[in-house]
Amino acid sequence: MEYLSDRIKSLSVSQTLAMAQKSRDMKEKGIDVINLSIGEPDFNTPDDIKEAAKKAIDDNYTHYPPVPGYPDLRKAISEKFLRENKLDYSPDQIVVSAGGKHSIINVVLSLVNPGDEVIIIAPYWVSYYDQIILAEGKPVVIETGIENDFKLKPEQLEEAITSRSRLIIFNSPSNPTGMVYSRSEMEELARVIEKHEGLFVISDEIYEHITFSGKHESMASFDFLYDRVITVNGVSKGYAMTGWRIGYIGAPLWIARAVNKLQGQFTSGVSSISQRAALAAVTLQGDSSRKMRDAFLKRRDLICGLLKDIQGFEIRVPQGAFYVFPDVRSYFGKSDGVTTIGNSNDLVMYLLEKGRVALVGGEGFGAPNCIRLSYAASDAELIEACGRMKEALAKLK
Ligand code: GLU
Repeated sequence: MEYLSDRIKSLSVSQTLAMAQKSRDMKEKGIDVINLSIGEPDFNTPDDIKEAAKKAIDDNYTHYPPVPGYPDLRKAISEKFLRENKLDYSPDQIVVSAGGKHSIINVVLSLVNPGDEVIIIAPYWVSYYDQIILAEGKPVVIETGIENDFKLKPEQLEEAITSRSRLIIFNSPSNPTGMVYSRSEMEELARVIEKHEGLFVISDEIYEHITFSGKHESMASFDFLYDRVITVNGVSKGYAMTGWRIGYIGAPLWIARAVNKLQGQFTSGVSSISQRAALAAVTLQGDSSRKMRDAFLKRRDLICGLLKDIQGFEIRVPQGAFYVFPDVRSYFGKSDGVTTIGNSNDLVMYLLEKGRVALVGGEGFGAPNCIRLSYAASDAELIEACGRMKEALAKLK
């Protein structure tokens, strides 16, 4: 007999991680599957960062680190915020956690009471929804579609806000759509939020270094909203450091203190070695981050060209991150004679089984007409994956 809590029973499995696991399992069985499911740079961590981690071991960074992170790391993050984002966060306003995902749940658990409403914008990143459930909050989903470039309009936001709204989670560049909001689009949304006292914004900026449409913009850079924004970032995406698990927030002091208290009872300070590696990353003067961004841009152009050649995939050209999010509803109801495609998950399973390409269905992102491809893979893999998909899809009538 299993006695699981209602809390755990109410949670869904992360679709991004589930598909990544499926593809690993298939590879282990010797099946040649191309994994475009999980979003992570295929580059290795730059050498100077790895050297810093090796040195940290030799220098005996092997003891408990301070709960919110080493002082020199928080100082370096504070300087990074000022240098790159023109955001003034003192080191006390910064808390380092085990990845952006951990940073977000820390904030959600610190601000949301049972029944409080948290606004998310579909298509949203899979874990936002379930993190709200975990905090016993009420997810309020605002739908956006491909016809509006998957972008939220100020009037939609105004309509969704109630007296119980506590938080909105904003993400630009967006996972999964790759869309990037312009400064003026963000300002219009910020003006709506400003009017509602007690409404806070988590601004998830984890893809800031992977933007193709000019300068990255931060929600907290609007002075009138600064006190109500929690800026989330990390080293995973910009420095190819997904496995090191380092995310951080810059936040109003009272929120940083609350997160610090929560983390003190939950995880303590995160891996000492990873923190020393992160210090090297955020102070890095090298150009590895820019080189990776340039490579992603080339791959974006490659994959968009290849996808245009696949009938029935409607796409918007992403302006950031490393995902394409085609609308695939034209395949719903079609069959190869054995399998009938009822929804995007069916299509993803079909492409995995028949095409040996691992993707993620749109359901988990709140967008059941779409599927997500991560193009953080080599040119050869992208070309081969699109060829396989095209062949498998041609059999659906
Ligand atoms: N952010 C990545 C993705 O969406 C990492 C996987 C995850 O933690 O969900 O694929």
